[in-house]
Amino acid sequence: MSNTLIEFFYLLAAVCFILGLKGLGHPRTAVAGNVLAAAGMLIAIIVTLLDQRIVGFSVIIAGFAAGSIGGAVMAYRAPMTAMPQMVAVFNGFGGAASMLAAGAALEEVLTGELVEPLGLRFTVSTAAAAIIGAVAFSGSMIAFAKLQGIISERPILLPGRHFMNAGMLVACLGLSAWLVMEPTSATPVWAIGIVATVLGITLVIPIGGADMPVVICLLNAYSGAAAAGLGWVLNNSVLVIAGSLVGASGFILTALMCRAMNRSLANVIFAGVGAVAASEAESEDIYAGRVKSASPEEVAMLMDGARRVVIVPGYGLAVAHGQYAAQDLTRVLEARGVEVEFGIHPVAGRMPGHMNVLLAEADVPYEKLKEMDEINPTFKQTDVVLVVGANDVVNPLARKADPSIPIAGMPILDVDQARTVVIIKRSLSPGFAGIPNPLFAAENSLMLYGDAKKMITALVGAFKEA
Ligand code: NAP
Repeated sequence: MSNTLIEFFYLLAAVCFILGLKGLGHPRTAVAGNVLAAAGMLIAIIVTLLDQRIVGFSVIIAGFAAGSIGGAVMAYRAPMTAMPQMVAVFNGFGGAASMLAAGAALEEVLTGELVEPLGLRFTVSTAAAAIIGAVAFSGSMIAFAKLQGIISERPILLPGRHFMNAGMLVACLGLSAWLVMEPTSATPVWAIGIVATVLGITLVIPIGGADMPVVICLLNAYSGAAAAGLGWVLNNSVLVIAGSLVGASGFILTALMCRAMNRSLANVIFAGVGAVAASEAESEDIYAGRVKSASPEEVAMLMDGARRVVIVPGYGLAVAHGQYAAQDLTRVLEARGVEVEFGIHPVAGRMPGHMNVLLAEADVPYEKLKEMDEINPTFKQTDVVLVVGANDVVNPLARKADPSIPIAGMPILDVDQARTVVIIKRSLSPGFAGIPNPLFAAENSLMLYGDAKKMITALVGAFKEA
């Protein structure tokens, strides 16, 4: 295949990526966008396989088979709630692949197997792909281990960590300078790989589990940047474009998530939030003698007399797979003339858009899902708010300017302004941030203890019996 033809198909693939990303911006066009981006990737893969520069098909087929089987098994077995750690693993592999491929390309150029000028473009992009790729790899593995519970979710604050990290960064830059000035051996790249791998570990280990999804987005951006760097190494335009798109969208998502939590990126990365857990005594102070509970029948009666009900879903709804029950409840309430809407917090659940995806699965109409800014002014006119498996996103402690509170300053759903708040969860256990929630002890709150799916189903049952 001629170079012009290859470049033409790469351009076509890039157009598919960009239009696909645009489609992913709205739930209605997301599936088509995904298919278009995947088609772009298929074009890019086929064209690359037809390129004369590839070594041979046997290694590619073996790698393709091993990767596809491994990926399919992982995707099939991972529950929806484990998606963030799954994304972390994939990011990590992407970062490692970029680092290893950049190093291998340098080895090949040195032995004459690959013909590329050993100029500034080649050496700088090799060093960049190695640093960013290795940090993305080891950082993602630590993020995975934390979210999977393999190591503690709490921030592990190593003494002198900022100096240590700065030292390792300087070492990586020094090794890069060596490679640029004297590109006669691949040793500096492999040394960069080792130092940057340790750097990735020490950068991520002081970050608490609650901040891990933000870190995963950032590492996703890094893995994109590493792939773009590799694209420069291999002089492959589609890799540069795809890597840049992943990098840019990862950085934008990271910024949006930080904004939703009212935190700066520096605060997420360096503050070690969550190092101190809430004590039993603190929870006891807030809850003692103040928490009231109700039965599904009592809550059904309350809702039956309501004109407007807002359902606020959280991580617990996903754990319980209660989305279909929530849609049933919506239908039952609407049949009785009750207006029902869903209040969606941008960081409810464990990944961006988690609640939207969950409720879309159960065919909850998209128009019913109201974002925080839109739903907050309506809570004062809401008779009943049903908080289902949500905790941090409705915790009034977030309104306090106390730096010891991990979610201080995070905008929340103002459910406490509604006439009655019913909270479905199994106990008074804290949410992801590990702090008690005064909402559970508020005057207008009622706890409906139990699994989210079971309790919503019981509510629907109570309506049907009535
Ligand atoms: P949350 O604060 O983690 O609380 C979830 C609650 O669900 C828990 O208190 C738990 O209480 C309850 N629960 C668990 N399983 C349940 C079940 N089967 N049935 C009923 N309840 C169940 O969740 P959230 O309010 O959605 O807040 C999300 C948190 O994740 C925030 O701290 C946010 O900052 C963080 N986070 C999210 C993202 C994102 O992209 N979405 C990103 C970064 C951080 P019980 O054990 O008592 O049932």
